[in-house]
Amino acid sequence: MNRLFALLFISLLTASCNQQNNQNPNNMVVTEEKKQSTIAIDAHTCAMPNEAVATHLDLDVEVDFTKKQIIGKASYQIKNVIGTDHILFDTYDLTIQKVTVGNPEKETKFELGAKDKNLGQALKVTIDSTVKMLTIYYSSNPAAQALQWLDAQQTADKKKPFLFTQSESIFARSWVPCQDSPGIRFTYSAKVKVPKDLLAVMSAENPIAKNDSGIYHFNMPQAIPAYLLALAVGDIEFKSVGPRTGIYAEHSMLDKAVYEFSETEDMLVAAEKLYGAYRWGRYDIIVLPPSFPFGGMENPRLTFATPTVIAGDRSLTSLVAHEMAHSWSGNLVTNATWNDFWLNEGFTVYFERRILEVIYGLDYAEMQAALGKQDAINTMNELGMTSEDTKLKLNLNGRHPDDGMTDIAYEKGCLFLRLIEENVGREKLDAFLNKYFNEFAFKTMTTEMFIDYLKKELIKGDTILEEKLTIDQWVYNAGMPANCPNIISTRLQKVDKAIEDWVQGVKPLSHLPTREWSTHEWVHFIRHLPYPFNPQLPDQMKELDNTFHFTNTGNCEILAEWLHWVILNKYSSGYGSLEKFLTTVGRRKYVLPLYKDLVKTEEGKKMAAAIFAKAKGNYHFVTASSVEEVLK
Ligand SMILES: [Zn+2]
Repeated sequence: MNRLFALLFISLLTASCNQQNNQNPNNMVVTEEKKQSTIAIDAHTCAMPNEAVATHLDLDVEVDFTKKQIIGKASYQIKNVIGTDHILFDTYDLTIQKVTVGNPEKETKFELGAKDKNLGQALKVTIDSTVKMLTIYYSSNPAAQALQWLDAQQTADKKKPFLFTQSESIFARSWVPCQDSPGIRFTYSAKVKVPKDLLAVMSAENPIAKNDSGIYHFNMPQAIPAYLLALAVGDIEFKSVGPRTGIYAEHSMLDKAVYEFSETEDMLVAAEKLYGAYRWGRYDIIVLPPSFPFGGMENPRLTFATPTVIAGDRSLTSLVAHEMAHSWSGNLVTNATWNDFWLNEGFTVYFERRILEVIYGLDYAEMQAALGKQDAINTMNELGMTSEDTKLKLNLNGRHPDDGMTDIAYEKGCLFLRLIEENVGREKLDAFLNKYFNEFAFKTMTTEMFIDYLKKELIKGDTILEEKLTIDQWVYNAGMPANCPNIISTRLQKVDKAIEDWVQGVKPLSHLPTREWSTHEWVHFIRHLPYPFNPQLPDQMKELDNTFHFTNTGNCEILAEWLHWVILNKYSSGYGSLEKFLTTVGRRKYVLPLYKDLVKTEEGKKMAAAIFAKAKGNYHFVTASSVEEVLK
C-alpha cells in the first residue's frame, strides 16, 4: 500500500482489545502446538492455522447495490492439521446463516465468539478429522469496513454506482469469512453476480469486458493471504498498454489513465531485471473513483489506484513502481504478522526507487529518496523520537494493525536497506535480494527470520560489517540511528536556492527557473516557503497564486500542499478550491492534514465541521473515521 498516515486512525480503534499474544479473543489459551507452530503467531487473527487451516476458497456471491450487501457462500478446502474438532475463522459484522461440511453438504454446528472492537468475532465451526471442505453461508453488513459503496454521483462518469474493497490490513473479514492473517495463504476461485450493466474485477485472472449475464468467474492460482483479496464493481472499461499490462477505468478516465500509465510495461521489465521474473501473469491497474482512501493497493494482478495520481504529465507514476514492486516484496514474500510490516513496505520503497532510477534517472530517484527521508524524520518528530512506533519491529498486539502503518515502516525500512547497500555494494545486495525473493517466494517472513537470513547469506561472519550495520539499533530501537545514510538531491538544492532568491528579493517569482520542475520539486518548493509570510507583504499568497496558479491546479499533490498554506494564511481566495477538494477527494494522505490545519483555529473548526458534513458520504470508512478523530 502506498503511504497510509494512519496515525489518527489509531485511537479510534485501540482500547477495548484485551487479547494477549497467546490468546485469541475468545479467551481460549493457545495450545502448545501453536507455540511450536510453523505459521507465526499473529495476534490479529482468531484463526489457529497450526491446528486447522484453510487452503483454498471458492467464493460464490452476489453484489447487491440496493441493500449494500455481499450475499452468498464461501466454501473452503481445509487441512485439519492436528485432528481437532473445530476450525476458526475471522468475521467482522458478518451475518452467518449456516455452515455445512462435505459435499454433499451436511449442516454443522457453528458459534460466533464475543465481539472485539479491533478483531471482530471468531467463527468456530465444528468439524472432525475427516472433513476436507466446508461452506459458510453469509451476508456482509451494509457498513462493512472493507467496502465502499458509491452512488453514481460519486464516480467519475456519474452514471452508475461503484463498489470497491480495501482488505488490508484486517478488513477482509468484513466481506468474506476468512482466516485473516498475512501468514495464512490460500488460492481462490470466485463466481460473482453483479448488476448487468456493471463489470466485476478481482485480484485474480480478470475479464476485459462486460457480458450479458452479469456473472463473472475468477481464478487465482497463486496462494495469497486474505488482505490481498479484492473486488471492484463498476461501469469500467479496459485498454491494454503492453503485452502483460493494461488499465481498467471508467469511460471518462480511461484515455487519461492510459496516457499516464503508459510506461507500466517498461517498469515491469526494469523490475524483472532487478529482482527476477514477475510471477503473477498479468499486471493491470484499475483507476478507482476519487474517494479511494489510499494512493494505491497492491492487489495481485490488479493494482487499485487513486485517480489523484493522474497529473497529466506522468509525474506521479512512482505509485505504480511502488505497487508493482509489491509483487515481490509483500505479495511474494509476505510479512508474517503486522508487526513485521517494514518487511513489506521498507523493501518495497527501496525497490520502487530502484525502478524509478532505471526509468527516470538517478537524480530523480535521489530526489524521491531525499523527500522520503524528510518524511521519516517528520513522522518521528510527530510520534516522538523515543516512541515505540518508530522501531522497525512493531508491537501492535492489543491495537489495530493500522496503527503501525506510518512512514517509519516505509522510509526507515528503506533507509536500512540503503545502509546495507552502501556497505556491501549494489551488486552483492542485489544478488542477496534475488536469492531472498526466490527462496521465500509464496512464503511468509518474520523480522527475526530475515535477520538470520541476512547474517547467513550476506554478512557471513564479517564482524566489521555487522558492527557497521547496527542491525539491532535499526530494528529494535526507537528513533533514527546515527549511521543513517546521508542523501543529497541536487534537484532539491536548486529549489532551495530558488526560494532563497525570491525571499531575499534577488529574483521575482516569474524569473525563478521552474520550467523543468516536476511535481516533486513543486511540492518541495511549496513546503519550504517561509512561514509566517512577511506581515509587511500581505500579498505574497496572491503573488504566488497569480504567478503559478496553484489554487486552480489539477495536480492533487501540488494542490494539497498549497491548500495547507491557504488555511494557515487565511487566504480566502483559496477557500472554494479547498472545499471542492475536500468534498471530492477521499485520499487520506491529503485529506487528513488539511483537517488538522483547519482545527487549529476556531474559525477553521467551524469550516472543517461544515465541509465534513458535506464530504463524509464520499469518504471511505478509514478516511471518515480518521477525520472524525481530528474533529472531536
Ligand atoms: Zn506499499
